[in-house]
Amino acid sequence: MADEIVIAVDGPSGVGKSTVSRGVARHFRLGHLDTGALYRAATLAVLESGVDRDDAEAVTEVVRGIDLDQADGETRLNGADVSRAIRSEAVTSAVSEVSAIEEVRHVLVEMQRRWVFEHGNRAVVEGRDIGSVVFPDADLKVYLTADPDERARRRSGEAGTDHGTTRAAIERRDAFDSTRAVSPLTVAEGAVVIDTTHLTLPEVVDLVIAEASLV
Ligand code: C5P
Repeated sequence: MADEIVIAVDGPSGVGKSTVSRGVARHFRLGHLDTGALYRAATLAVLESGVDRDDAEAVTEVVRGIDLDQADGETRLNGADVSRAIRSEAVTSAVSEVSAIEEVRHVLVEMQRRWVFEHGNRAVVEGRDIGSVVFPDADLKVYLTADPDERARRRSGEAGTDHGTTRAAIERRDAFDSTRAVSPLTVAEGAVVIDTTHLTLPEVVDLVIAEASLV
């Protein structure tokens, strides 16, 4: 495997991106960047600022002014660990709207590229637009899918919410993320598509490791 390697992992909510990305990063001793957590932390900052969320300029100003980082499995907003706070219902229901603002994406995409550069261009980066926009030249692009029922089952296991509510929430977010004008969720050119519906997450990790070993 080359010294520098960037692996892009994209896909919808609840498909297992974080578990798979973490496992692959650990195996190859690469950095792991969860960009969904960055969009969530930016959304938390917007909610805390009290600005009108319909005011794209004001929202962008807030996002420009924050310091985001990820280290040791923690997401930090202005130096504070917000890993738990970004999973709140309030953040989950506002994040797609904040993420759809073009300028917000510019700020966060630059931040993601800088993070990977500072980690020696050795990273697994997970999100929605990593292979298509952030790292179109990634050494390996993976797109994970799973049927919505299975994704809801995985998410309700994590969140402790009931299946029907979780399924409705992830479908709403997927629909929004897939149809937005800027960087919609899409299968990047050259991506290896893995349907994880009938696989365990350790099996998916092994498949991605096998693909990465070829680059
Ligand atoms: O991955 P997670 O479900 O935590 O992502 C939360 C939200 O952040 C997504 O629903 C999407 O709106 C946004 N997001 C994005 N681009 C990414 C990662 C996440 O727009 N690269």
